[in-house]
Amino acid sequence: MNITVIGTGYVGLVSGICYAELGNRVICVDKDPRKIDILNAGGIPIYEPGLKELAASNREAGMLTFTTDLQDAVRQSEIIILAVGTPPLPNGEANLSYINQAAIEIAEAMNGYKIIAVKSTVPVGTNERLASLISDYTKERFDSISLPEFLREGSAIQDTLNPDRIIIGASSKSAADVMTLLHIPLTEQIVVTDIRSAEMIKYASNAFLATKISFINEIANICEKVGADVTKVAEGMGYDRRIGPSFLKAGIGYGGSCFPKDTSALIQIAGHVDYEFKLLRSVVEVNQDQRFNVIRKLETIFHHELHGKTIAVWGLSFKPNTDDVRDSPAAEIIQHLVDNGVKVKAYDPIATENFRSIYDINGVDWCLSALEAAQSADALCLLTEWEEFSRVDLGTLQKVLSSPILIDGRNVFEEEDLLGTEFVYYSVGRPSLN
Ligand code: NAD
Repeated sequence: MNITVIGTGYVGLVSGICYAELGNRVICVDKDPRKIDILNAGGIPIYEPGLKELAASNREAGMLTFTTDLQDAVRQSEIIILAVGTPPLPNGEANLSYINQAAIEIAEAMNGYKIIAVKSTVPVGTNERLASLISDYTKERFDSISLPEFLREGSAIQDTLNPDRIIIGASSKSAADVMTLLHIPLTEQIVVTDIRSAEMIKYASNAFLATKISFINEIANICEKVGADVTKVAEGMGYDRRIGPSFLKAGIGYGGSCFPKDTSALIQIAGHVDYEFKLLRSVVEVNQDQRFNVIRKLETIFHHELHGKTIAVWGLSFKPNTDDVRDSPAAEIIQHLVDNGVKVKAYDPIATENFRSIYDINGVDWCLSALEAAQSADALCLLTEWEEFSRVDLGTLQKVLSSPILIDGRNVFEEEDLLGTEFVYYSVGRPSLN
């Protein structure tokens, strides 16, 4: 099939490359010429393991091209997939200006029947509204499809090529059949539904996963007080097939470009129909508070005298294996420390540049290695579970720190890792050591 994917961000780029890998002819479009230049030069504007190689092989095979020319791409394609951003507005609602703009541009380029599918996460009713917007600009026939995306950054290729399910929201059976044909090589688990339900499936899924995370984080907070170990509690719970083991890892809460914005948007969506989503409000509140778990521990250790201390921070991205720092807990934690007179030394294997370009936090010492950040620090806070951190020699780490205090916000280390060291070790929902 001839496909245009609009938006070469974390979703559009991975999806476009994977559709090409399936044997489709794909044009990836972005309005940002910097990204397209990088892609045309054989580079990748985001960090996603394996993506560069997959892009290269599909470009060489002539199945994948990159352009800023949306109109030309649309004219050459039967299927147009929208994967532009829908970032949150200050009131929590999704900002639909990018998707509206792209829809108008598609409409103006229409030269025959097309399927227009929306992968971006959009509030219920948006696809119907977009269809009406497109009809205002063109007389050509088209069908709208809601095609919500569930990939996770860091394992995006694997998730795209082996999805748990594909959701196709359609009002036309023939368009749904074409989209089913496109995705059947990936999975047989294809749910075809009406457009509004498909839009809702995406929000409900993310809200449920966020709920699991906040739930286990609250259990962790109670575990700390009653002397239980949340990792054992989660293991014991997870064997119950009604519960399942995933998303029961306690830590400093979720971040990223999806869960925070999608939970806020769903609260707004419910509010617009006079429904107060009380459970989800609490999930968001718990998550917001959980980031300060690390700060509270530092305050206890230093008897509320953080001013003048040097604190090392390991991890700036919201999760490992990505350079995405949107709504990363690290941003609020570092800002709080700096505001309270702490000298912060920060290191991330990949995301430092992105972090610095997005968050304007003055006075941070940006380091080039984990040990450089730890050098002479009064305590070390681990905020992202990059594998690199679990491989650091704890004996060496102990020597370079000014005092061997480790606050592990992601429960990376086990008790046996710390045997023979003098670390004072705090984690989340587990007894502290030494
Ligand atoms: P992103 O910000 O990384 O990328 C969006 C891209 O769209 C940008 O490169 C931007 O330049 C481009 N763009 C915007 N308007 C355009 C236009 N008119 N023409 C051409 N290009 C345009 O966003 P993302 O993280 O890929 O997310 C995209 C959507 O997918 C969002 O709705 C998001 O909620 C959803 N989603 C994201 C993830 C994820 O893990 N990032 C997972 C599932 C769903």
